[in-house]
Amino acid sequence: MADKARTARMEKIVALCKRRGFIFQSSEIYGGLNGFWDYGPLGVELKRNVRQAWWNDMVVANDPLFVQAGAPQGFSIVGIETSIIMHPQVWKVSGHYDLFADKMVDCKEVKGRYRLDHVKGRWVTGKLVPKEGAAPAASDEEWFITTTVDGPEAEEAIAKRAGKILGVKSNELNKLQWKGNVTSLATVPVAKFTHVVAPEVNNPATLTDPRDFNLMFETYTGALQSDENKAFLRPETAQGMFVNFKNVCDSTRVKVPFGIAQIGKSFRNEITPRNFTFRSREFEQMEMEFFCHPSESQQWYSYWRDRRFNWYFKHGLKKENMILREHEKSELAHYSVGTADIEYAFPFLDDGEYGELEGVAHRGDFDLRSHAEGKLDKNLQVEKNADGQPKYRGSGENLTYFDDQTRERFVPHVIEPAAGCDRATLAFLCEAYCEDEAPDDKGEMQSRVVMRFHPRLAPIKAAVFPLVKKDGQPEKALEIYQALKEAGIAATYDAQAAIGKRYRRMDEAGTPWCITVDNDTIKDGTVTVRDRDTLKQDRLPASELVSELSQRLRK
Ligand code: ATP
Repeated sequence: MADKARTARMEKIVALCKRRGFIFQSSEIYGGLNGFWDYGPLGVELKRNVRQAWWNDMVVANDPLFVQAGAPQGFSIVGIETSIIMHPQVWKVSGHYDLFADKMVDCKEVKGRYRLDHVKGRWVTGKLVPKEGAAPAASDEEWFITTTVDGPEAEEAIAKRAGKILGVKSNELNKLQWKGNVTSLATVPVAKFTHVVAPEVNNPATLTDPRDFNLMFETYTGALQSDENKAFLRPETAQGMFVNFKNVCDSTRVKVPFGIAQIGKSFRNEITPRNFTFRSREFEQMEMEFFCHPSESQQWYSYWRDRRFNWYFKHGLKKENMILREHEKSELAHYSVGTADIEYAFPFLDDGEYGELEGVAHRGDFDLRSHAEGKLDKNLQVEKNADGQPKYRGSGENLTYFDDQTRERFVPHVIEPAAGCDRATLAFLCEAYCEDEAPDDKGEMQSRVVMRFHPRLAPIKAAVFPLVKKDGQPEKALEIYQALKEAGIAATYDAQAAIGKRYRRMDEAGTPWCITVDNDTIKDGTVTVRDRDTLKQDRLPASELVSELSQRLRK
C-alpha cells in the first residue's frame, strides 16, 4: 500500500509541475520528445536558484585566507564555462569513446530497444498459451516474464502479463507459481534468454544478446559528414576542467589545493529515459574538480563527501530521505580510490530505494595524466596497440604542478563532486510537495497543496495583495511590490479573487511570504506578512519589508 501511495504522490507532483508551469514535456504540441524537458516560468526560477545556491557554496564562499568548518585548510575555487563540443581526442583519452556504454537488448519482433538493467522480470512456472493451431505444451516450464514498468508497480504489471501469457484468469493470479522476486534482466544468463518473454510480446525468445551502446550523441563539425569531422556532444562537463587545468594555473594565482567549477548542459543518449526528469537525454550538471597533493587526497575526499551531503539538508531535503552510499571496491572505476553517492528516496522508487543525486569521486591522477600522456589502462600505464604505439595519444602538455614553497613538482590528485542540477531540482520539488489544511476566508479549515521550498530556492519570494480594490490599497500595494522588485527580491502582485484563494495560489507556487495591504496600511503604514508554513501573520511597517525579507533570505 505504501508503494501505491508513493506512486500517487509522484503523479500529483508531475501534474502540479505542468499545471503551475514548473516543467513541461519538450515539444509537447508535437507529441513530445522522449528524454527532453522544458522548464516553465516557475521551474526556470527554481532551477536558477538551485544553480545559484550551488555556485555560492562552491565558488563564492571559499577563500584560502579562511578555513571552512571541517576542512584541512583554506582553498579557492574558480569558475569556468567550456564548450559543449570539444576536440574528439578528449573523449578518446578520457575513455568515453571506448567505454561509455550501456548494455542493451533489442526485441526482434516489435523492434523495441531496452536497457538491459531497466527490464525487470520474475520467473514463473507454467504452460504458454499455445499459438493458434499449435499443440499445447506437454509440461510446465519456467518463464521470465518482463516489464519496463519501474518501481512499485513492476510486480503487479508482471503478474498481469504472466496471467495473459500463461492463460490464467485475472481473478486467479494468486495461483501463479513464482520463483524468487522481481529482478533485473541483467541477472539472467544469456543462455536462458530462450525463456525470457520480452516486455511488449507474449511469446519467448525474441530478444537479441546484450550489446554495448555508446551513450554519446554524435555530430559533425563543418560541411563534410566524414569520420574525420565526427564530434560528440559532451556527456559530462568535467573534461572541460581537466583540459583547462594549465590555462587556469597560468592565468590566475590559484595554489594547490584549489578547485575549478562549472555548471552546464551534458548529453547522454540514454536507452530508456524515464522517471520524469531523473534520467533525461539532455540535462545540466554542476561539477567541481578539486586538485590537491596526493598525500592529502584522502582527507579532501572525506571533506567533500560530507560537505556535499550536508548541502542538500541546508536547502531543505530531509535527512531521513537521504543516504550517503560508499561504493564497494568492486563498483569502483579502476582509477578510483573511493566514490560515494549521495542518494534521495524519490517517490517513483520503491520504499527503501534511493536514486543518485550526486557522486563524489576520488579520481587519483588519472585525468591529468591521461590528458598529458595518453589514455591510461587498468594498471595506469599508457594503453598501447599491438604495434606498441599509444592507443590514444595525450596532448603532450605538461600537466604537472610546481609547488614553489616545497619546490616539489607533482601531478595533483582530483576529488570530484559531480551533481545533477535537474535531479537536485526534482528532489527539491518532491520534498516540497505537501498537502495540509489552512483556513479559508470564513476561518474554516480547507485542504491545500503547499510547496514548502527553502525560501532561497522558492521561485517567488513574496506576493503582494491589496485586500480590496479601492481606498488607495492597490496603489499602496503596487508601491511595495515595485520596491521589492527593485531590491532584487522576486515578487508578484495579485489583486484578483478572494484573499484565501490568492493565498492558495501562492502556496502551490511555494511562495514563502504573502504581504497584504489593508485599511490599517493606509492609516499607519503597516502590512501583514503571512508565513506559508506556520500560517502566522506578523504586522510590519511596509518601509522595513525589503530589509526584513532580505534578512530572512540570508538565514
Ligand atoms: P546514473 O548511474 O544515474 O546513470 P551516473 O553515475 O552515470 O548516473 P555521473 O556520470 O556520475 O552519473 O554524473 C553526475 C550526475 O549527473 C549524476 O549524479 C546525476 O545527478 C546527473 N546525471 C547523470 N546522468 C543523468 C541523466 N541521464 N539525466 C539527468 N541527470 C543525470
